[in-house]
Amino acid sequence: MNYFLLLLAAALSLLTACGTRPPGASSKASTSPTEPPAFGAIREDELRRDLFELASDSLRGRRAGREDELRAAVWVADRAREAGLEPAGADGTYFQFYPLRRVAVSADSRVQLNGQVIALWQDAWVTNPVEARLDGPVVWLNSMADTTKRDLRGKIVAMNLLPPTPLPAPKMSLWGFRYILSALGQQGAALRSKGVAGIVLVADATAEPQLGFVGFRYEDGTYNLPATTTPATPPAAPLLLVRQALGARLRSKATLKASLGVDSYIYPSINVIARAPGSDAALRAEHVLFSGHHDHDGVGPALQGDSIWNGADDNATVSVAMLAIGRAWKQNPGRRSALFVWHGAEERGLLGSRWYAEHPTVPKNSIVAVLNGDMIGRNAPDSAALLGSVPPHRNSTALVNMALQANNQFTKFKLDNTWDDPKHPEGWYFRSDHLPYVRAGIPGLFFTTLLHPDYHTPRDEASRIDITKLARMTRWMYATGWAVSNTPERPSVDPGAKLER
Ligand SMILES: [Zn+2]
Repeated sequence: MNYFLLLLAAALSLLTACGTRPPGASSKASTSPTEPPAFGAIREDELRRDLFELASDSLRGRRAGREDELRAAVWVADRAREAGLEPAGADGTYFQFYPLRRVAVSADSRVQLNGQVIALWQDAWVTNPVEARLDGPVVWLNSMADTTKRDLRGKIVAMNLLPPTPLPAPKMSLWGFRYILSALGQQGAALRSKGVAGIVLVADATAEPQLGFVGFRYEDGTYNLPATTTPATPPAAPLLLVRQALGARLRSKATLKASLGVDSYIYPSINVIARAPGSDAALRAEHVLFSGHHDHDGVGPALQGDSIWNGADDNATVSVAMLAIGRAWKQNPGRRSALFVWHGAEERGLLGSRWYAEHPTVPKNSIVAVLNGDMIGRNAPDSAALLGSVPPHRNSTALVNMALQANNQFTKFKLDNTWDDPKHPEGWYFRSDHLPYVRAGIPGLFFTTLLHPDYHTPRDEASRIDITKLARMTRWMYATGWAVSNTPERPSVDPGAKLER
């Protein structure tokens, strides 16, 4: 700090201590948010305690559709009750259950190459759950050019996996997964357009080392809300991704026999919802919604002997931040009420928030803003981002201004706007729970400290969280919510606000 700034800071602290304002600041003061009086209720020791419990191995990564997600939800509800928050879920409880549909390749599915059984989920992965029977010779294709040389309708074709065009951007998160997903999508679509009955793709050198991690997702299947499942389309030809070692056998007059089944399950998934009433008799019917997700990825492929994907940053950080904000709100309520929604099944496709945005437990038009957080405890101490703060993602300039003012006034993070650019390769804005609310026309923001190398790995552990930064991000979300709660006019949606996708 240079000398001039030091003097200025000293002068300002004196003014604050005397309860006076610099001359000329009074007109500004009428539009600035009232100071949130309960910052002291956001305590690092409590955040740390809660974080280490929610992200502990005993909750096994809180995977949606497993009992672990339900146990995590009960843990959150117990802490909300201890914080003095009211239940605001279904029928006087803290919970809102909704159905999660998982579709997966059935366990009795069989694949044989030249009469020999191939070990599914070890040497071969069915990448789309689909009922199918295949039995016949394999047509080996050396390149896509071969697809024009003969009629492939009804044939079983095999070829090498080709790199996708374009490649995923360098250093993008989950790069290997994106590489395989994109390659399968492009090559699968091109081959299916020829009317083939089945497709076998041999992993290339890039995909081969990723098969353990990526293949787990194919074994696990797909998830959706039953109500929003798209109408039945003709089943796509099955696509098997196989290890390089099987390539030689496929190239020379191979035969393939496959019997593939599909199992469909409905699991209970769960949102946890609590409320802290506001202090104003008229405005307390309106809600500032604090949003996060309590689920993560569960138990999966091990990394250095650790198979539990704890999701400490993603998203135990925000889950415990919301509890701290709840304690602060109870100590000193804002004028509007605070609503806390810990969504389930975010990692399975924003399913809990999609459900809640369609089935809110408070009147939908009583939700004046959604302040969502996802991953708020990593990276450089002063860095953070506010997604939804610049067009085309910004849907409420009034809300953005409140969040920026709260940061300028209290938390002073250096904000990285580049992730809000629609050309940013990660598309980060589209990857968390504010999205269904914004699509429903509610002002919404996404607070985050962004990606890091431990994202979606077993290394996202509580011990790696910067608790001081987590407390500071919690204060920023709280101060923003406080401003929204106390402003006379609820933040308006910008006219013509429209997401680019
Ligand atoms: Zn997340």
